[in-house]
Amino acid sequence: MAVPQRRTSKTRRDKRRTHFKLAVPGMVKCEQCAELKKAHHVCKNCGSYKGREIVQAQ
Ligand SMILES: [Zn+2]
Repeated sequence: MAVPQRRTSKTRRDKRRTHFKLAVPGMVKCEQCAELKKAHHVCKNCGSYKGREIVQAQ
């Protein structure tokens, strides 16, 4: 059976894990409706941006 010749160092192990991240990055709470929305984007739920600017009406 193949066996690793040396133990993986903490540095090497942690460097490998730098690619493990959360699936939904850059999501913030909307100031208006408290829904999750993408940062720097108009809220999909209420159409507001930066607290006030209502861009879309539904
Ligand atoms: Zn909103």
